[in-house]
Amino acid sequence: MTLRLIKCLDIKVIGENEKPGHQCGILAIFSEQTANIPEKLFYGLFTLQHRGQESAGIAYRKGDTIVTYKDLGMVSTVLVRYLYQERPSNLGIGHVRYSTHGGNRLENAQPISVSCNKGEIALAHNGNISNTSLLKEELFSEGAIFQSTSDSELILHLISRSHQNNFRDALIETLLRIQGAFAMVMIHNNDLLAMRDPYGFRPLYLGKKDGLTVFASETCALDILQIPEYRTVNPGELITVNERGLGTEIFAENKKTSQCVFELIYFSKPDSQVFNQTVHIMRKKMGAALANSEDCSGDIVVPLPDSGNSAALGYAEASGIPFELGLTRNHYSGRSFILPSKAERELAVRIKLLPVKETIRGKRIILIDDSLVRGTTSRIIVKLLREAGAKEIHLRLSSPEIKYPCFFGIDIPTKEELISNRMTPAEIAEYIGADSVRFLSIEKLKSSLPDFENYCFACFNGDYPFKPLDQDYRSRINQ
Ligand code: SF4
Repeated sequence: MTLRLIKCLDIKVIGENEKPGHQCGILAIFSEQTANIPEKLFYGLFTLQHRGQESAGIAYRKGDTIVTYKDLGMVSTVLVRYLYQERPSNLGIGHVRYSTHGGNRLENAQPISVSCNKGEIALAHNGNISNTSLLKEELFSEGAIFQSTSDSELILHLISRSHQNNFRDALIETLLRIQGAFAMVMIHNNDLLAMRDPYGFRPLYLGKKDGLTVFASETCALDILQIPEYRTVNPGELITVNERGLGTEIFAENKKTSQCVFELIYFSKPDSQVFNQTVHIMRKKMGAALANSEDCSGDIVVPLPDSGNSAALGYAEASGIPFELGLTRNHYSGRSFILPSKAERELAVRIKLLPVKETIRGKRIILIDDSLVRGTTSRIIVKLLREAGAKEIHLRLSSPEIKYPCFFGIDIPTKEELISNRMTPAEIAEYIGADSVRFLSIEKLKSSLPDFENYCFACFNGDYPFKPLDQDYRSRINQ
């Protein structure tokens, strides 16, 4: 195994699918005055990079056409060309992608742009359409040709093939036919549109300032564009922005708001607001709830950086045990590698996480992470801490045990692969070599949320807001 090999392979450093997979980030900008929209999209997408690192792209209006540019890779590589030259426009959309549906292939990158009988359309989607197979079967039988394996292309087919006379009616008909999670932005001719599914699984914010209207998955993208005031796009809401102003309508009644609690636990950036909560504050509350669930005993609270940082601060504050930097993270080792063998995976973790031996040696460590999927990486981290001289290691997770797959835009392995379906916390501790393992209970998680009834907890308790229509999803639930 050589470093050269690590560099050229595509690996996930923290073990393959060791965390629930991120989904995607979307952004849309409308400007009353002509502006350098692609440059603004670059900066906004750059702050949303944590939501997807596989591909990046933008689509913007240039005169009579929509220009689309996308590629596999990070925003700073794919879209850097938009920093060098003024490109006047008045509207555009952007996307960063993690593939929950379809593979990591260029044809699955977004935005997807088409010209059809309803006009010119560009689409960027965050979420997962859970009746894709059924709808695709129907479209195939009618002769449809798909260019990608992503579920988002389906939406454009349905709009184009709709018998409704105009785009708006065709869009609403389509939104009522698709089932699942979607926060979406679109360009249609000279209009910018944003919409969120009736359950509100994925976040989407609307901000306005000085003639600029911006939609973004998280408020960090609005912050970088210096837009201080915003509101959420409501579940089931469709917003249209054009030179006549902003129009809003409810295309479907809100059934049961089911915001993805994992956005707060792990996916979103700590400085962002998501579902009207500041992510860092919510994570601290989860960490405090974890500490308040037990008689804490340890010498130091150590976060697994960066995902465990906020919860560890909360745990330390609530328990009175000092917060300490026991592990540092190498931010330059890249985010996306795939190493095939066990030894190579271990090397990847060692490259990414480095122990601060002085703070660890002889200590009873309370190690805080946000979630546990397969447990393979935790095993390596525990080994690393033992080698650095830790006396005891107690792993604490600021989320409940993940036991069920997700059909709403998050990549969670099958039930058999989830360690909490096979082992009790005590068995997990033995498997990973820790002295103890504990999870935040679902009840405690709910108590740390101000409006828990508006959240989805299905990957913890199997209580899905609705059962997916597609047979393959249904069989995954019943496995
Ligand atoms: S099942 Fe889990 S990951 Fe999926 S939407 Fe619900 S809370 Fe989020």
